[in-house]
Amino acid sequence: MLVRCPTCGTHARIVASDQLTNNTRMAYCQCKNINCSTTFSIVIEVHKVIRSPLQGSTPPTHQPELMGNPNQTDMFSEL
Ligand SMILES: [Zn+2]
Repeated sequence: MLVRCPTCGTHARIVASDQLTNNTRMAYCQCKNINCSTTFSIVIEVHKVIRSPLQGSTPPTHQPELMGNPNQTDMFSEL
């Protein structure tokens, strides 16, 4: 997930997050620009479910190829 600093527009990294509701998470971000280093928070929310699994199908699971990538940040995992 790409987050840009609201002060300088440089990429920011998510350093921590808290689950607020089943569909909402607060993420705390820090700008990667060493001359800026703004810290800020964002809210990540499920806006709309576009497609649900078909009735009678097996429940969805995590995609294994995404879970093992150390560069992938799981926004919804417990910290
Ligand atoms: Zn910045």
